[in-house]
Amino acid sequence: MEEKRCLLCNRPYNYKYEMFGRGCLDNLYELLGFAKSPRIIWNKELYLCTRIAWKNHKFFLSKKKKYVLAQKYIALTYLNMMNYEALNDVKEKVSNDIKNIKTFSKNIVETISVSLNEIYKLFNYTQKFNELLKEAKKTNWEEVDKDVAENFIKSMSFIFDLTKKNSPIAYTVFYAMQYTFWQVVVVGGLLANMKLSAKLLSHSLSLFGKQPQDLLINDKEVIEDILESEEFDNKIKELIKKYCSEKDKFKDNSENNEDCIIEFNNKDLLFAIHGSPTSIEIEKNLDNTWKVNMVIEDTYDFTDFKDLKEYVTSNKSLLISIFSSILNNFGVVSSKYGVIKSYKVTIKVQKNNFVIK
Ligand SMILES: [Zn+2]
Repeated sequence: MEEKRCLLCNRPYNYKYEMFGRGCLDNLYELLGFAKSPRIIWNKELYLCTRIAWKNHKFFLSKKKKYVLAQKYIALTYLNMMNYEALNDVKEKVSNDIKNIKTFSKNIVETISVSLNEIYKLFNYTQKFNELLKEAKKTNWEEVDKDVAENFIKSMSFIFDLTKKNSPIAYTVFYAMQYTFWQVVVVGGLLANMKLSAKLLSHSLSLFGKQPQDLLINDKEVIEDILESEEFDNKIKELIKKYCSEKDKFKDNSENNEDCIIEFNNKDLLFAIHGSPTSIEIEKNLDNTWKVNMVIEDTYDFTDFKDLKEYVTSNKSLLISIFSSILNNFGVVSSKYGVIKSYKVTIKVQKNNFVIK
């Protein structure tokens, strides 16, 4: 006899049923909210399929149609439990296919083919992910031990699986999990106290099938952080000293002139704009103060974080260590999935009367 495999869990079984092993069949009764079949029923599997047909207001279906309907209906139940907006399109197609199973139609028309086992596996991935997510929300990232944090983040690596990109439904589910990971664990967790970094990453996370627009940062707080930083102050002084002893003007950018590279110590600025091309314009005012215009222009690319270690002499920081290793690798995968997209970011900073003290 040919070996039968359960359509849901794919384990072999040798009971009389055509689609499911006995354990899975019992679970399906519960999942679908059906009371147990009466004792008198000999084929519980066929009975389940009949119940599903009735629930969908379909009567007198052939056995074959009943079985196809049951598979689609169970698939839809699991899809609904995954509760991801990105799956709406898939759900709609499955619903339509269910609608189109009719008593008197000749063929079964399918707009989407679903493997129950694939959907079951995806559902289990999302369950595991949701458990980890709950824990992540409880974590205080400012205080957590470095190794514990790293291991915890690593335990989520299963959602960054490039092989899942090949199946459309798996792609959608993995896209949704990754999107949630970046939004909740990173933007709302690890980066919660780093406004600019969180904003830039959040902006690069694209809703399914959408492209982020370029971004001009004009948050007062961010601009003040830059203007009030020691690094800004020192940099401008240095440039005036070096280039403005005979002229009253200076204008250049970091791509032509290394002197225009500015490295911030502020954790948030360091993360957000490390290594960004910067152009600086300085002009002397009549009252001997200086007018400074600085434009930081960059292509936001999350996977640049691997360079962070070069910028930071102390690698003891939890964030630096996680971002430059594990999260950078996750970022590479999410970029390939299209979850993280790159875009142009510009920050304009102006000081009208810079004073050399
Ligand atoms: Zn099974």
